[in-house]
Amino acid sequence: MYPRLEVNIQKIKENTKLLVEKCRKENIEVAAVTKVYCALPEVVEALEDTGIKYIADSRIQNLKKLKHINLPKVLLRIPMMSEIEELVQYVDISLNSEIEVIKKIDQEARKINKVQNIALMVDLGDLREGYFKEEELFECVSQVLNLKNINLIGLGTNLTCYGAIIPSRENTQRLASLSREIENRFNIKLSFVSGGNSSSLHLIDKEDMPKEITNLRLGEAIALGRETAYGDKIKGAHQDAFKLVCEIVELKEKPSLPIGEIGMDAFGNKPVYEDRGIRKRAIIGIGKQDINVCGIIPLDTKIDILGASSDHLILDVTESDIEYKVGDKVEFNLEYGGLMAAATSEYVTKIFV
Ligand SMILES: *Cc1c(COP(=O)(O)O)cnc(C)c1O
Repeated sequence: MYPRLEVNIQKIKENTKLLVEKCRKENIEVAAVTKVYCALPEVVEALEDTGIKYIADSRIQNLKKLKHINLPKVLLRIPMMSEIEELVQYVDISLNSEIEVIKKIDQEARKINKVQNIALMVDLGDLREGYFKEEELFECVSQVLNLKNINLIGLGTNLTCYGAIIPSRENTQRLASLSREIENRFNIKLSFVSGGNSSSLHLIDKEDMPKEITNLRLGEAIALGRETAYGDKIKGAHQDAFKLVCEIVELKEKPSLPIGEIGMDAFGNKPVYEDRGIRKRAIIGIGKQDINVCGIIPLDTKIDILGASSDHLILDVTESDIEYKVGDKVEFNLEYGGLMAAATSEYVTKIFV
């Protein structure tokens, strides 16, 4: 069945082991982030014996599918008030930034006789989730310590997401110092100081990682073998563990300029075209409902992606050395957005190789 997402589990495993080893040298434990491939159980099961210490995902639905996996589950997205009943059943550690939500977790955990682990998020300037003002963070800690069914295990931060801020020794040190200060002020021990995601790996290479950091949450680095501060390939890691394979449904020579008055395309945009004369165009059976056109790269480097509608992707194959025919397959490497969409689409078959 096409289109299909081919997943090379061995390559993902090798990437994971490489990163676990890199982090272990800094006394950092790895939480493997599974959201970009929708926590495909076949993949996550293979990661169990790679040395990772946690499974992390942004969605409870995904963690629910992984109940049989014998590793603590971290919920990455700060929880909705409406999902706390499920959270206490399927999540071992949640990342939090609102005291009302934490109080609700405390209540729900009490109902099932559980003590729920939480870490508090600190915003170091990326301006997504987390406490921005230190006084508010300390105030939250003092309230949390009164909640009987909550165990505060540490702090976390997230960078290079909304604000695209690059982790540095300075901003990461702020998280490290805050954890120290909370330990001293409240006389507690914080064992989980989660310093960031795949964009923090470069700090290890530069020997800029503060020693208080005990955890990193790695998604893209594991799945696509890239660090995400600069987009560099990680040495020794595979960038092609995932491959998208699609089928040609039409192949014809056509002009490069549409004929007639130009209105709006299927998505309400007014397109601009360049006249390149008559070109050989292939249509493949995949579209914007399944993929992010910007996140896919043809393995045949002489193919140009012209555009897509919901269900059709149009390629210019004029320059290719391959004589394509209808029914032939075209392969793509994936970037983060391309992988995320292909993994999420139920119209894309998943195959494990
Ligand atoms: C998605 C996510 C990660 C993983 O990010 P990568 O760049 O894929 O490593 C880590 N932490 C949080 C909170 C996330 O939402």
